[in-house]
Amino acid sequence: MIDFTLTDEQEALRDLVREFATREIAPVAPKLDEEQRHGEEIVEKYFEIGFLHYAVPEEYGGAGLGTLEGCLFNEEVGAACGGVACTLGGNTLGLTPLFIAGSDELKKELLPPHTEGPNLAAFCLTEAGAGSDAGSMRTTARLEGDEYVINGTKGFITNGSVASLYSVFAMEDPDAGNRGFSAFMVPAGTPGIKIGKKEDKMGQRTSDTREVSFEEVRIPARYRLGEGLDGFKIAMMTLDESRATVGAAAVGIARAALEVATKYAKERVQFGKPIAGHQAIQFMLADMAMKVNAGRHLCWHAAWLKDTGKGNTMESAMAKCFCGDIAMEVTTNAVQVLGGYGYMKDYPVEKYMRDAKLHQIYEGTNEIQRLVIARGLLG
Ligand SMILES: Cc1cc2nc3c(=O)[nH]c(=O)nc-3n(C[C@H](O)[C@H](O)[C@H](O)COP(=O)(O)OP(=O)(O)OC[C@H]3O[C@@H](n4cnc5c(N)ncnc54)[C@H](O)[C@@H]3O)c2cc1C
Repeated sequence: MIDFTLTDEQEALRDLVREFATREIAPVAPKLDEEQRHGEEIVEKYFEIGFLHYAVPEEYGGAGLGTLEGCLFNEEVGAACGGVACTLGGNTLGLTPLFIAGSDELKKELLPPHTEGPNLAAFCLTEAGAGSDAGSMRTTARLEGDEYVINGTKGFITNGSVASLYSVFAMEDPDAGNRGFSAFMVPAGTPGIKIGKKEDKMGQRTSDTREVSFEEVRIPARYRLGEGLDGFKIAMMTLDESRATVGAAAVGIARAALEVATKYAKERVQFGKPIAGHQAIQFMLADMAMKVNAGRHLCWHAAWLKDTGKGNTMESAMAKCFCGDIAMEVTTNAVQVLGGYGYMKDYPVEKYMRDAKLHQIYEGTNEIQRLVIARGLLG
């Protein structure tokens, strides 16, 4: 039986986030974008209405909601501002290795203090020389007595300077490549953590992106995640979980662009009629609507697989890849529908287009997603 009906509770929660995003995020997004600020006041308010830690299990202080709910929320926040969706989503991304591979004791130690406030987490995998090829990372972890000592520099870290908790991937056995690194939780404020300058970005400027360096950073050995699970596995399982919700944020950006383009096409008159009366514009809008819907369904399916305990590696890669690509296409066409006005900052579509681009790059580029999908197909 196929049923696309959301439960009353899911609809109510989605409507709450939509209302919040429309009231609190969309109006300030252009200014935050201009100032390149992540908007801690939004994070605080999102925490106050109970959504910041939606994915943290209830027993550790969160709302215990699933990936499908994450998709619903991310689409709404993404429609208001892609960068804010990145900031808020970065929190869940940073915590997911702990959900997946942390012991009950470690979750009890680290999660309740995190969920008590408007705290953000960050996921630290990428390095200057290790992007798509995570196994070539240079950050190391060595065990000394009952502590691990971490050294190295992570790059492009979302929430880098504002996180209170980092999940960090570091090499324990460099000879083992992908199988040689492990995952650790590192509280911000641990001596030896250095934050780099804020990256000056094309889009999603309302998220904080930094280098984060670890210089002889000492953490208790129990902060290493995963009994019998290597860091690569934990990182890949984390990304399987997050890619559906990241795809949903891209759907949100595309949906917002479609809405602006549709409204504009009905109002803008050329050659004596609204441009919506020209078939070329109608076809563009029709294609945009088709892709937004298709993207949403891919995300929901990948989320449903996850929430019902089924494997979703290939489907979440499809959701992330397709939605990143259609967000880029739909926002580009929205600029086209608005003509020269679309190119100006007076309308939001140029920001949507800049924000959409990142969806083809982070959480694994879309080339890497295609490799994952091909691997799923070919075995
Ligand atoms: C704003 C922003 C925020 C980010 N946030 C985070 C974060 O919070 N945490 C984190 O860990 N990382 C984060 N990243 C890093 C992001 O995940 C990486 O940028 C991404 O994985 C690609 O790595 P790279 O930039 O080194 O590109 P590269 O890996 O150098 O790739 C360059 C190009 O080569 C292609 N390519 C590489 N290998 C292959 C291959 N085998 N086959 C085909 N094509 C290939 C890529 O697809 C790409 O087009 C962020 C990045 C940005 C820009």
